[in-house]
Parts: sequence; structure tokens; C-alpha cells
Amino acid sequence: MKHLSIKARVTLWYTTFMLIFMAVSVFCLLLLSSRISSRRTRELLSDVVTDAVSSVQFRYGELETEDMDFYRDGVSIFIYDTSGYLLAPRINLGVQADSVLQDQTARLVRVNGTPQMIYDLYAVRDDTPFWVRGVVSMAESDLTYGSIRYLILLGMPLFILIAALGGYGVTRRAFLPVAGIAQAAEQISSGTDLSRRIPEGKRNDELSRLARTVNGMLSRLQESFARERRFTSDVSHELRTPLAVIRSQCEYALSPEADCDGKQEALTSILRQTRRMSDMASQLLLLSRGENGTFTPSLAQVNLSRLTAMTCMDLEPAAEAAGLTMETQIQPDLTLNCDETLMIRLITNLITNAIRYNQPGGFIRVSLSTESPSDETSQPMAVIRVSDTGIGIQKEDLEKIWDRFYRADASRSSEGTGLGLSMVRWIAQVHGGWAAAESSPGHGSVFTVWVPVG
Ligand code: ADP
Repeated sequence: MKHLSIKARVTLWYTTFMLIFMAVSVFCLLLLSSRISSRRTRELLSDVVTDAVSSVQFRYGELETEDMDFYRDGVSIFIYDTSGYLLAPRINLGVQADSVLQDQTARLVRVNGTPQMIYDLYAVRDDTPFWVRGVVSMAESDLTYGSIRYLILLGMPLFILIAALGGYGVTRRAFLPVAGIAQAAEQISSGTDLSRRIPEGKRNDELSRLARTVNGMLSRLQESFARERRFTSDVSHELRTPLAVIRSQCEYALSPEADCDGKQEALTSILRQTRRMSDMASQLLLLSRGENGTFTPSLAQVNLSRLTAMTCMDLEPAAEAAGLTMETQIQPDLTLNCDETLMIRLITNLITNAIRYNQPGGFIRVSLSTESPSDETSQPMAVIRVSDTGIGIQKEDLEKIWDRFYRADASRSSEGTGLGLSMVRWIAQVHGGWAAAESSPGHGSVFTVWVPVG
């Protein structure tokens, strides 16, 4: 049984069940109908015999037979005297049973090999005692049951064969996706083809649903493998430039023609590249922890107004050094349940970009306010907005700037890792919020972050 396929096991199980069920049902049915029919025959016999008794008459001890009916409703009537001598009818119909007379007892006997039911009644009329016997043939019902039995014996195996074949066909068709699933799984595990999908079929049964679920899982796996591959190639690509700079600066500093100032410059450049790489490493670590779901923000009630003002103060010297003016418009005492370190990083990234991608003599405006929701079900939002009068962002780049390592062509020459804005969006999402950008190329950009308060 263990080495049989599921299809064969299912078919075997229900065929056996059906066979037993049908056999039991047919047996019960035949038994019941034969009981009913023999009860009816008994009743008929007793009625006809009782009627015959009432029509019996004796004159001077002799039986009067003129008015008597010896055959009615299939029942043959015989009159005997008390010693068992047949008084009437005189003509032997060949159905007369030799059985001993027994009062009011219906029983089955065989006369010349034919089954008969007999019923006797003892009575006294005109001071003369006598017996009346009724005999009815059971041959017809015997024949009917015999034919039904043959029909069932022949028909049942045929019926079960058709049901088994049909059932096996249906199960085989239903299990077809399983073969597809196994084949796809084998191909995926033996190779690297994650683009393979299992045929889902048009039905909506359990296996089609399983195929759809497995296909969904494969799509997610394929997407996450592709993301991993992209990530690895992005990281190695981004590390190549600073590593090449460090290597060439080291080679130069170690060469005999490098003087003291040259060595100093080379070391400064190496330090800058190392800082950039370590910044990139820590941002990447945080981002990947966020994506893996292993990062838990340390939430606390933070005075966001003070935190924004302090971050602006820290970055003001850098803005001034770039010839920019920074303005702030901060709503006082706005508190937020948030991760303080992440919030500082979010604001710093936005302001650093506003400094980096600005134009000489430009402005930076940092504002913090609350926004009431338009409908009563949503929460009020803290809104951090950083606007600049910088180079702006082309329309086709506006959505891509949030991707890891994406840098618009116009800003490739500047320092940066291409991770700042993906960090901003991720931090906003960690706090249940969202970030968006608007820009008019050549005139400036506005970055807005919404975080629910409460
Ligand atoms: P990075 O600044 O390190 O390159 P970011 O993820 O912070 O990386 O930004 C991605 C890209 O978005 C930048 O390279 C730049 O092209 C564009 N960008 C971001 N902020 C601004 C801004 N304020 N003005 C113009 N372009 C910007």
C-alpha cells in the first residue's frame, strides 16, 4: 500500500468503500422487499381462506360446491375433512400440497420443485368440522428476485469499474499540477532558473491555489535574489572609486618624488575617501538591517523642535562655508515618539543634500510644523520640509533618487554615496511616515517628510 501512488490509493479506498456500501445496501434492500412481499402474500392468503370458509356449506353432511370459488387472486382453495381427505375440488390442479394441516400457520413448501406458500384454517359449519387450505405460488416472486440478483451481480462490478476508472481519471487530472510543481522545484534546485513558473490552470481548486502560492513565493524569491545581486554589484562598484583613489595616493606618497606637502595632500585625500567608505558602510549596515527586519528603533518621546533646531545649528557653518544662507521656521515644542539618532540622520541627510546640490549665494529653508488630517480617522502629522534654491532634479530622476546608490548625472562629480535619500525614506517608513520630493530643475527642490504624531 505504501508504494502505491496517491491516485491509486484514493481510487482503491473509495472503490472498496463503494463495493462494501453497495453490497450491504443491496442485501438490506432485497431482504426488506422479500419480507414485505411475503407478508403481503400471507395477508392475501389468510383473507382468501377466511372468505372461502364463510362460503362453505354442508347439506346432510355433504359439502355443497356449486357456489364455491376454488381459485381467487392467484390463491387455490382446498377443502379437507378432519382426517385430511380432500373433499373439494375434485379435479387435481397439480398444486395440492401434501403438507400436514396446521391451523392458521402460513409456511413455505415445495410442490414439484416450485415454491408455494400454504395457509390452513380449521372451521365447523352445519355441525361438520373441516379444513380449508389456501395455496399460492411463489415462483413468480422467486423469479423476480432471482433476476434482480443476477442483474445486480452483473451490473455492480460494471458500475464499480466505471466509477473507479472515472475517479482515477479525475484524480489524475487534479494531481497534474503536482507533477508540474515537483518538476519546477527540481529545476530550480538543480539550477539557477528562478524565472520558471508552475502552470496554474484555470480551475480554483486546492492545487491551483497551491500552484499560485508557490508561484508568488518564487516571484518574491526571484525579486530578492535580483535585489541581492544588484546590491552586491552596486557596493563593489561604489567601493572601486575610493579604493582606486586610496591606492594611487598611497603609491604617490611612497614614491621618491613626493615632497612633504604632496604627502600631506595624499594623506588628506586618503582620509576623505576612508571617511566616505566608513560612512557608506555604516549606512548600508543600517539599511540592510532595516530590510532584514532585524532593526528595532529605540523609540522615545523626543522634542523634535529642539532636535531640528540643534541639527540646523550644527550644519550652519558648513552652509556658510558654501556661501549659503540657512533659514529656519520651527514650530515650538513639537514632541514625537521616535528614534532620536535616526531623526538626526534624516534631517542631516536632507540639509547636507541642500548644501551639496545648491548654487553659490543660494538659500536653504528648514521648516517643522504639524498638519491636521483631512478626515477624522487619520492622525495629525509632523512635517519636516527642507527647501533649497539649488540645481534641482530632472523630472525623470525624481522617483529614482530614492533608490540605493542612485545619483543623478548632474551631481556625480560631487561627494556623496547615493545612500542618503534611501536612508531618509526608510527612516520615515520606520516611523510610519513617508517622504517625497518636488523640484524644478535649475531653480531648486523641496523635500518633505511626514511622520504621524502620537
Ligand atoms: P548622495 O547625495 O550621496 O548622492 P542621496 O541619496 O542623498 O545620495 O541623493 C541621491 C541623488 O538625488 C543625488 O545624487 C542627487 O542627484 C539627487 N539629490 C538629492 N538631494 C538633492 C537636492 N537637494 N537637490 C538636487 N538634487 C538632489
